[in-house]
Amino acid sequence: MDSTSQSRRKRTLLKVILLGDCGVGKTSLMNQYVYKKYSEHYKSTIGADFVTKELQVDDRTVTLQIWDTAGQEKFQSLGTAFYRGADCCVLVYDVNVPRTFETLNTWHDEFSRQADLDNPAAFPFVLLGNKIDLAIGQNLTVCEEKVKEWCESRGNIPHLKTSAKENYNVEDAFLCVAKIALENEHQEDIYFPGFSESVSEPEQRSSCAC
Ligand code: GDP
Ligand code: MG
Repeated sequence: MDSTSQSRRKRTLLKVILLGDCGVGKTSLMNQYVYKKYSEHYKSTIGADFVTKELQVDDRTVTLQIWDTAGQEKFQSLGTAFYRGADCCVLVYDVNVPRTFETLNTWHDEFSRQADLDNPAAFPFVLLGNKIDLAIGQNLTVCEEKVKEWCESRGNIPHLKTSAKENYNVEDAFLCVAKIALENEHQEDIYFPGFSESVSEPEQRSSCAC
């Protein structure tokens, strides 16, 4: 095995955390992705901090460990265990409710502070505008231009519109999460030889950017 494949096999567990206002569909997105289930009246499972799902990213098997909240996001007091060691932070808003987009600043700052990020602009975030099924045929309530600007101002965060209800873009969203987290891992790996990888990186990134 050469050093490149050793580096690829080194760590395949990625901790992903879902953040955003209560009611935007975080739990629904996670359930749709992991269990292929959607319910209007989902009750969070008491005691379950995270769920895992395996997926294939190119030639690599990756396990996503997805951390959801059990309603504590109302108080923005999720505790350091929630944030510690995160590889990607997924920020979720409801495309039909502007307030849920406005509060993303708070969630982004909260995460950057709690996870103790030296350089938040380099950390992999993914933005999901959920409940797109409710917005079909109308102008989006949350201004697309504003969202684009916000993503750019926060270090070019990839943005996808999803529907947990219709299972639209959910698989792609988490694939994007896995890819962007793996890209970051490569950048942090000071021993990684990197040459061939850095050539293919822009291609991978553009597949999930908005
Ligand atoms: P959370 O508080 O962010 O975890 O949000 P939930 O997943 O509990 O969802 C809140 C409500 O929005 C529930 O009634 C869901 O059924 C509903 N919901 C979630 N995702 C969607 C979606 O994509 N489309 C529609 N129409 N409703 C959704
Ligand atoms: Mg929830």
